[in-house]
Amino acid sequence: MDNDCLFCKIIKGEVPSTKVYEDEFVYGFKDINPAAPIHILVVPKKHIASLAELTDEDEKYVWAIHKAMNKIAEEQGFKENGYRVVINCGKDSGQEVMHLHYHVLAGNKFGDKIV
Ligand code: AMP
Ligand code: ZN
Repeated sequence: MDNDCLFCKIIKGEVPSTKVYEDEFVYGFKDINPAAPIHILVVPKKHIASLAELTDEDEKYVWAIHKAMNKIAEEQGFKENGYRVVINCGKDSGQEVMHLHYHVLAGNKFGDKIV
């Protein structure tokens, strides 16, 4: 945990959030400024600054996040229609919060296909 990190504070409940999912390794909550009808952030409960900072020790968090996204999609009813996952990593991507997070976007058909 990092005392100055917004998402660490959210995980600890020191900053309010709208929780959609939680397990031993993962916390999922609604993005405060949604970029799609459904916009959920899924984060590891360990402070990992970005994708670039991942180590072999973090393997369990990555797998837990992927499983959690699947569960969330099922529970929130967008598994069938599908969803987009975005990870910003570092300066050029525009990453603002330096705690690894997966953006899960759903609820409409995305016209702006980047890749
Ligand atoms: P990124 O630009 O990839 O670092 O994404 C950071 C995301 O965090 C943005 O989509 C913000 O809208 C979101 N965000 C910032 N503060 C909060 C907060 N207090 N609760 C929920 N989401 C937040
Ligand atoms: Zn953190």
